Amino acid sequence: MTRATADSGRFARLGLHRAIDFALHLPLRYEDLTRVTSMRQLVPGVAVQVRGVVSSTDHSDGQSAQSRDGGMPGLSQSNRADPGGYRRGGVSARGGRGGLGASQFTVQVIDGDGEIALRFLHAQPWIRSLLVPGRRVLAYGIVRSGLFGPEIVHPMVRADEEGAALPDRLTPVYPTVAGIGQPALRAAIRTALREADLGETLPPEVLKTLGLPELGNALQSLHAPLPISLPPFDDDRSSPAWRRIILDELVAQQLALARARAERDQVSAMPLQDDRMERRLLDALPFRLTAAQQRVVAEINRDLGASRAMQRLLQGDVGSGKTVVAALAAARAIGSGWQVALMAPTEILAEQHWRKLSSWLEPLGVRVAWLTGSLRGAEKRAARAAIAGGEVDLAIGTHALVEETTAFPRLGLAIVDEQHRFGVAQRLALLRPEMGAKTPTSAVAQPTQRAHLLMMSATPIPRTLAMSYCADLDLSVIDELPPGRSPVVTRVIDAGRRAELAQRIRQAVADGRQAYWVCPLVEESETLDLQNASETHLWLSEQLPGLTVGLVHGRLPAADKAKVMAAFQGGEINVLVSTTVIEVGVDVPNASLMVIEHAERFGLAQLHQLRGRVGRGAAASACVLVATYPLSAVARERLTIIRDSQDGFEIARRDLQLRGPGEFLGARQSGVPMLRFADLERDVELLEFARQISREMLAHNATAVDRHLERWVGVRTSMAKV
Ligand code: ADP
Ligand code: MG
Repeated sequence: MTRATADSGRFARLGLHRAIDFALHLPLRYEDLTRVTSMRQLVPGVAVQVRGVVSSTDHSDGQSAQSRDGGMPGLSQSNRADPGGYRRGGVSARGGRGGLGASQFTVQVIDGDGEIALRFLHAQPWIRSLLVPGRRVLAYGIVRSGLFGPEIVHPMVRADEEGAALPDRLTPVYPTVAGIGQPALRAAIRTALREADLGETLPPEVLKTLGLPELGNALQSLHAPLPISLPPFDDDRSSPAWRRIILDELVAQQLALARARAERDQVSAMPLQDDRMERRLLDALPFRLTAAQQRVVAEINRDLGASRAMQRLLQGDVGSGKTVVAALAAARAIGSGWQVALMAPTEILAEQHWRKLSSWLEPLGVRVAWLTGSLRGAEKRAARAAIAGGEVDLAIGTHALVEETTAFPRLGLAIVDEQHRFGVAQRLALLRPEMGAKTPTSAVAQPTQRAHLLMMSATPIPRTLAMSYCADLDLSVIDELPPGRSPVVTRVIDAGRRAELAQRIRQAVADGRQAYWVCPLVEESETLDLQNASETHLWLSEQLPGLTVGLVHGRLPAADKAKVMAAFQGGEINVLVSTTVIEVGVDVPNASLMVIEHAERFGLAQLHQLRGRVGRGAAASACVLVATYPLSAVARERLTIIRDSQDGFEIARRDLQLRGPGEFLGARQSGVPMLRFADLERDVELLEFARQISREMLAHNATAVDRHLERWVGVRTSMAKV
């Protein structure tokens, strides 16, 4: 293997393939090797470069500098290609921990003004042979105050060669992975910056108005800034160069979304226009739809009735009644002669949907099947055969539905509940015909046709996210709860008062109600003092003689889980002790009390979802957040937010501030950061500009659109949300 191919293989691990990928791989920070700090001016905690003469050395293991060097030619070791000319010292990359046994190596270096100690654990041989008394050296690192004066642990060191100049630019430090060193990356990026096409794609007038540099200039100055850009190292990315790159990235995202949308508009689907079954279901429901439900049903029906494939996200706060909307859409599809798949993220939720939808739809003659990973092999095969044979109208299940062997001969509508809980790949499997010939959506009658897609989520998407990642989706929002709901009273109490809660539960049960008791983890973790769910179950059973206390947790086999949930649903269990397996979607309207232990360890979205399990009936409901003090500042803020608000959108907005966008989009699960440089909270103003610019480019400059997308999307994973 040549060096070049070995390198390109290595760099691929960083997602770097084309010259432009390297050019867009931007530094995390910089080292200032352009100047030397006098040893009189050393400040602990500050990174500096010092120059001086080695005055003494100390090998704590007694080895001499010369004896073990194995012919490593110290001076010529400095890598001339790297800007600062440094190599990393310290722990050896090749020979394990130094190869010469554990040892400490310390040298004193003096300049005319003072002295500093350079300390190494497991110094490599070339360091030992470089740092010999009398040699003039340069060293760079963060100063600490040591026992005997200032010191640097594991500095970068190199010989200070006569006449050699210091670099005139800051030295970039790039994000990297093990096995790819900074010098190699720097060299590759320097080459790439010469080779890549950095021609401008954004309209020049706009750049002028915004006072931003051209792309090429911005990249050059970010990769190799002049030292005057100090201080600080532009941590908040507010310099014109950074803002220019962020704008470029946001424009790329907008263009990708616009293109995805345009492509999607080309995908046709079967128009689902027979509404007779939908009407029969509507008539049979025990309640009237809220105005908001009626509105979203109309929006969905407009899409379903068209020959363009629907791709709609239905949002509604917990308890807003999304399931019945999905059932009506399913009834329309089935009534029009097509199959429907409904995918839910957990077995419990899938089972609950199965019960509810069966009770609504089977009386109308709909044949419902159930398919989850926990079914026995033979049962799974039978369910799949029935689906494939067209003997099933509605298949409900977990992601087992999109596994290899499930084929729907006539899939007309795919529904994904709690869609943000699925990984990107799983959602893709439902969405993209080209993902494989056996996924449900690809199994529609003609290859150019796709099933309509309805995604549902109780996690509201804040406006900035909707404007960016979700710009290619149609959005329907249920912004109203069914009537007769009383707000959930939320309280935060100290864990010391846990015992009082048993009394509360007894009262709720005496009133004919049920309660949830949620614990964070099922087993004692080594480091965290977590309340063990099974211990809690025992304790509560003791506290509440005569009541039935159930237990459900993630480790329970699916069949047992289902049994417990059914018993709770049926009212045979009074109190359900649970880990967060009940988090999403569970609907037991008779439960009116929710206790969440170690509430400080849950995220905002989780707390809101959990609390949403109560307040589903007419009874006054309460949620008690049991917190273990003292609380961190963030935990206190979270609990305050959740105590004071029941508005999912407000909570989501605060959550976005606290946590960033990944959680909303399932990006974490995929491991692919969708925006690398932009921060939607910080850069909301640039996002607005990006929207305008992309519209203008799409209208007037198709070539620039292509070049821009090619540059940013290229071989990377698509930035469009799926
Ligand atoms: P979510 O939107 O969280 O999925 P669900 O669909 O589970 O909410 O609905 C919550 C509860 O409200 C269910 O018991 C459901 O039957 C009931 N429900 C839904 N729509 C209405 C309505 N229009 N009037 C009364 N109850 C409703
Ligand atoms: Mg739901």
